[in-house]
Amino acid sequence: MKYLDEFSNPELAQHLLERIRATTTRRWSIMEVCGGQTHSIIRHGIDQLLPDQIEMIHGPGCPVCVTPLEIIDKALDIAARPEVIFCSFGDMLRVPGSSKDLFRIKSEGGDVRVVYSPLDALTIAKENPDRQVVFFGIGFETTAPANAMTVYQAQRLGIENFSLLVSHVLVPPAIAAIMESPDCRVQAFLAAGHVCAVMGTSEYPPLAEKYRVPMVVTGFEPLDILEGIRRAVTQLEDGRYELENAYPRAVPPQGNPAAKAMLEDVFEVTDRGWRGIGVIPRSGWRLSPKYRDYDAVHRFGVSDVHTDESSICRSGEVLQGLIKPTDCAAFGTTCTPRNPLGATMVSSEGACAAYYLYRRLDQPAEVAHA
Ligand code: SF4
Repeated sequence: MKYLDEFSNPELAQHLLERIRATTTRRWSIMEVCGGQTHSIIRHGIDQLLPDQIEMIHGPGCPVCVTPLEIIDKALDIAARPEVIFCSFGDMLRVPGSSKDLFRIKSEGGDVRVVYSPLDALTIAKENPDRQVVFFGIGFETTAPANAMTVYQAQRLGIENFSLLVSHVLVPPAIAAIMESPDCRVQAFLAAGHVCAVMGTSEYPPLAEKYRVPMVVTGFEPLDILEGIRRAVTQLEDGRYELENAYPRAVPPQGNPAAKAMLEDVFEVTDRGWRGIGVIPRSGWRLSPKYRDYDAVHRFGVSDVHTDESSICRSGEVLQGLIKPTDCAAFGTTCTPRNPLGATMVSSEGACAAYYLYRRLDQPAEVAHA
């Protein structure tokens, strides 16, 4: 496919790998922040093709994986109510809460619907004025603009039977939390290209400076990732720690001003819990006071739900890059994509699911066509 195949070209990938090999003189640990990048790295065997000295650490950038158990349980509570039509993207339906998931609620008679856009949920609200329609708004800076736009439209159109269950998280505070961890082994970051396409790159130079860590804004195709790694290794070998943009075809330095204006209007920054990691200060968005009436937590009075993480699942350590999925005793035995014990096995962007899907193929690693 034109425009995608050219970023999976095996000869160009080999050339980049040779440049990385020629540059590398010692061991380096590089974290790819985004789950989409993790998926691409494992799918194409990029980590296996790199020099042995380079370790890729998989970061917390899978939105499904980091959505805290507490929010899942709030979603289950709301979705089970007879007056509610609960709308969500499909990958959230199998994420286990404390005792069940949204599929179970649906099988027990709950009106749980998969939609492809939050605006679809708003249409359902318009068509069902006697029901309460809730959209499960999770994710990073990438999914937040569409959710913000939907709440803005709901208010503008006077649609009062719509609300948003919000659990948005932000990448820069997570990077800071990872670097502040006493166990941190990360020496460079591949920053998530699609997040920067929305937010721009201005938040990252201060982090690079403060933690003396190179950051390279990176895309998602094999050549994008290899180029991001090449630039990160070059900075590490040179003793530099700067922000570089290796994804300029999608990321302007200023991001998307219209999306940022919408986010600023609808959301405000708040402390946010991350599944398996805990609360990171000022690492999320909630609805601003102007839109508080559209907050499902307030509308349904579910603010007091508190839960404990599974003692078996080690997804918190996976999400912080402290262990690989295969270090978890449950990996591939009691925990599989069909029967996931933790969120990192549910989502296709989760590191556990990526390892399960691609590591089990009995084939040599190769840079495959997308
Ligand atoms: S393999 Fe399953 S139980 Fe283990 S960390 Fe991953 S999601 Fe959790």
